[in-house]
Amino acid sequence: MAQIGTEAAPLRVAIIGSGPSGFYAAEYLEKQPDLHVEIDMFERLPTPFGLVRGGVAPDHQKIKSVTKLYERIASKPNFRFYGNVEFGKDVTHDDLVKHYHAIIYAVGAQSDRKLNIPGEDLPGSHSATEFVAWYNAHPDFRDRQFDLTQESVAVIGVGNVAMDVARILARTQEELMQTDIADYAMEALAKSNVKRIYVLGRRGPAQAAFTNAEIKELGEMAGADIIVAPEEVELDPLSKAYLETGKDPKAEKNVEILTEYSKRQPTGKPKQVIMRFLVSPVEFIGEKRVEAIKLVKNELYEREDGTLRPRPTDQYETIPVGLVFRSVGYRGVPLPGVPFYDRWGTIPNEKGRVLTDYSDDGQQVIGEYVVGWIKRGPSGVIGTNRPDALETVEMLLEDLAAGKLLSPSAPEAEAVEKLVAERKPDYITFDDWKIIDRLEQERGKAVGRPRLKFSSVEEVLEALRAAKSNMPAAG
Ligand code: NAP
Repeated sequence: MAQIGTEAAPLRVAIIGSGPSGFYAAEYLEKQPDLHVEIDMFERLPTPFGLVRGGVAPDHQKIKSVTKLYERIASKPNFRFYGNVEFGKDVTHDDLVKHYHAIIYAVGAQSDRKLNIPGEDLPGSHSATEFVAWYNAHPDFRDRQFDLTQESVAVIGVGNVAMDVARILARTQEELMQTDIADYAMEALAKSNVKRIYVLGRRGPAQAAFTNAEIKELGEMAGADIIVAPEEVELDPLSKAYLETGKDPKAEKNVEILTEYSKRQPTGKPKQVIMRFLVSPVEFIGEKRVEAIKLVKNELYEREDGTLRPRPTDQYETIPVGLVFRSVGYRGVPLPGVPFYDRWGTIPNEKGRVLTDYSDDGQQVIGEYVVGWIKRGPSGVIGTNRPDALETVEMLLEDLAAGKLLSPSAPEAEAVEKLVAERKPDYITFDDWKIIDRLEQERGKAVGRPRLKFSSVEEVLEALRAAKSNMPAAG
């Protein structure tokens, strides 16, 4: 039998998910000298790029240009894209085992962490993940309703997603026009009554998770003043000592930026973003929907590992808000037939090799790998996925060299093509995506925006059919 990874027997890899981590895994596989590899990428949605399309804020267009690299990776002759094909439904784990030597799960973290407090499920309380997916035209979320008639909104958490949510709520119509925000979201936000956006951190300003650029941006909004009361940036002795170590320039800069904000006077812009620290929600209050949130004041203490953690005091306050976005982190969801570690919301793994579990008896699951958020949890920026994917691909290549991969019974590329065509005749190829991409950009151009996204699977398929029927036949 020919050696796997040679021209006679190419290494066949299925990548599940088409976000950054999946593409970087594909890139490292393609870059291996002397390795013959065939990569099939499966994506549940009809469009590629995961959080770059569905997560990165629409007013961060420059970040989205990273897709140019992904297009180059997808353009290689040994790469195929199967969009609109769901793992576990249209193709199963058992199917893939028949056709590939290795499977890489790159599915990200599709759900959200819970606060586990009373009132969390009241109408008017939403996860930031829902709101982000809604304004980014994710097909599963386009029909969500957010009551933007409310004047006061709370965003729980001070990570970069909280920054995105606060910014999008505070943007003017003119600012949103320059983005590729979903058309329905732009319409809804244009009618928004929101005037006050409270952003609530459970620890102090020196522990905020947001990065410098993001907190800076929040102070440069055309239609919103940023409000930071001076006492909010007064550091407790533990935080002061921490910053003095000089080990955390990001935190130092965050505190410097917030301190500058605390010296500003409101300029009378129509909206206000109000930053609060050392407060945790303990209850969302309301009869039929959220009417207020009850907060407890926290203090910091030093844990054994040296980190500064929040603990509640006996001081409470209640803020009237009619809408809440819980932005306390994403969470992975289990895949059918694949191990899952519920506590962390990730697939158990060691350096990207999937394990049956984390117990002492945990075994490697041969031929299965993970990259990105489903591997390490929801942290880091797009570029973090590069070293992450490299580590996993190195493990895969080690296993290839050791002969420790799957032994597919039907390793021919055509067999997969046939299977997908049977199971999901309206699957999307990467060439199809390029047509959709062009159409979206043209629609955007017509209304003076960078892109106008299609937001439902039917819309994508219909537009594609129409575009293809107008195209001259090939050959
Ligand atoms: P994150 O950075 O982990 O922030 C989560 C926030 O939620 C933290 O402030 C955290 O506070 C808080 N939190 C967690 N549990 C809480 C609780 N029970 N009560 C109150 N607050 C709680 O997560 P994220 O904002 O979802 O972002 C995910 C990743 O994507 C991050 O790495 C982020 O940098 C990245 N991202 C980057 C960009 C960008 O580069 N522009 C944009 C969006 C997202 P503690 O710190 O106290 O735990």
